[in-house]
Amino acid sequence: MCGHQEDLNAPVGKTDTFFTQSSCDRCGGTLEKGRTMSWFTQDCLCPDCHGKERELRAKLRAAGQDDAKLEGCGYLPLVE
Ligand SMILES: [Zn+2]
Repeated sequence: MCGHQEDLNAPVGKTDTFFTQSSCDRCGGTLEKGRTMSWFTQDCLCPDCHGKERELRAKLRAAGQDDAKLEGCGYLPLVE
């Protein structure tokens, strides 16, 4: 194999490194145990940070906010 095909439908961002990078965008931790795309941003997350996002989404819902609408919003919402 040589070269790689550009996916013109890919969202703008750093998704091109999602499968190749070796450290979490948020905490810098290893991705050896898995990687997940952030719900809110284009960050590639380790399982720890993914777990924190799940908690954040649960808090948003508990606060009456619709976390589904915040998918890909580009920032981490703050919840009291
Ligand atoms: Zn992390």
